[in-house]
Amino acid sequence: MVEQLQRYGVIRSSKVAEVMEAIDRGLFVPSGGSPYFDSPMPIGYNATISAPHMHAACLELLEKNLQPGMRALDVGSGTGYLTACFALMVGSEGRAVGVEHIPELVATSIENIKKSAAAPMLNDGSLSIHIADGREGWPELAPYDAIHVGAAAPQIPEALIEQLKPGGRMVIPVGTIFQELKVVDKKLDGTVSIRDETSVRYVPLTSKESQLHAN
Ligand code: SAH
Repeated sequence: MVEQLQRYGVIRSSKVAEVMEAIDRGLFVPSGGSPYFDSPMPIGYNATISAPHMHAACLELLEKNLQPGMRALDVGSGTGYLTACFALMVGSEGRAVGVEHIPELVATSIENIKKSAAAPMLNDGSLSIHIADGREGWPELAPYDAIHVGAAAPQIPEALIEQLKPGGRMVIPVGTIFQELKVVDKKLDGTVSIRDETSVRYVPLTSKESQLHAN
């Protein structure tokens, strides 16, 4: 799977390839799914684990902000796959934080991570996953060098921009029916620039009630 993503040019960084090889997606996709198929897979609760090419693209976009010792926030952490990748990138000196509003998904994600190469970071406290509304971010550990949002927001939540460190970068899908993956850079002087990377399709960043009662 990783080799294929490299062949297609989605993965260019050797560090991203190494981390995606190390975190076995097979541990994060519920049984019955096809973990190494380049497609999103249902994980229950009207949510999906993102496709490998989206995980890879987001890791590539955030690589400079996931250096050892840096802080990363993963909003809508779902299965915990990408949070585990972040933890390996920033290492034990850094901090990887996942926020997810479905308690059952948080519990499963922690079980998944315990079986993965990121288990040591869970044990030493440099990786944690919390039950919370990700639209508020996770102020306790702000500011972050990297913020990833795994669900599409109607607009960029102000709290997330606030929790971005000067020099930090956020990758967030924005929109309802038509969505763009936006790259938000906070410059050292605090000004923010936003560009569109590509069109995407994510589940909505919404309230727990709306998500569970969708369909
Ligand atoms: N990156 C995850 C994506 C999971 S799908 C993965 O690949 O496994 C998006 C996730 O966002 C879902 O798990 C959903 O429950 C969660 N989510 C949606 N709205 C949220 C909110 N307001 N706060 C926290 N999590 C939210």
